[in-house]
Amino acid sequence: MATAADRKLPNILITGTPGTGKTTTSELLAIATGLNNINVGTIVKEKECHEGVDKEFDAFILDEDKLVDEMEEMMSAGGNIVDFHSCDFFPERWFDLIVVLRTYNEILYPRLESRGYKQHKIEENVEAEIMQVVLEEARESYKPEIVIELMSNTVEEMESNVNRIEEWVENYKANHQ
Ligand code: ADP
Ligand code: MN
Repeated sequence: MATAADRKLPNILITGTPGTGKTTTSELLAIATGLNNINVGTIVKEKECHEGVDKEFDAFILDEDKLVDEMEEMMSAGGNIVDFHSCDFFPERWFDLIVVLRTYNEILYPRLESRGYKQHKIEENVEAEIMQVVLEEARESYKPEIVIELMSNTVEEMESNVNRIEEWVENYKANHQ
């Protein structure tokens, strides 16, 4: 099995509370770097890596083992940007960098509103962002030195985040030829 040491191209996780900009950032980063963009939510739906829908929260009940099996081959090959709001069930060996996007609640709230989320789902997500749930999960699941927290409130911040991660990728490539 490929380990980080022999991956010529890195695997990067872009995580964060829904609405913090994971998908937009991942897409821009994929264009900038040429890395493969994996939207995990799409795999969950298309490969049915779930046990139905949680009606109350309007979210899939994940089949984590099936999802990991579905992703294993791509992840072992390296060169992926993975976009998902959760990270504790992914194998630790998969990732070289974990990016946690953060957004102020007064900005996050209207983003989720304009997405048509139900009131209690908006409140749950804003609360999770205030409590740093995703950041804590990332820090507990991966070596702290590979976890970085980036603010994602404005388009300027997003562009700066993409540039910063792109530089990190170039540096990784230079060190893994
Ligand atoms: P996620 O994938 O984390 O749920 P999205 O990338 O879908 O978030 O972004 C949600 C919405 O917020 C989109 O309309 C997107 O354009 C906007 N958005 C995300 N990040 C930013 C940002 N840093 N600045 C301005 N708008 C943003
Ligand atoms: Mn998304």
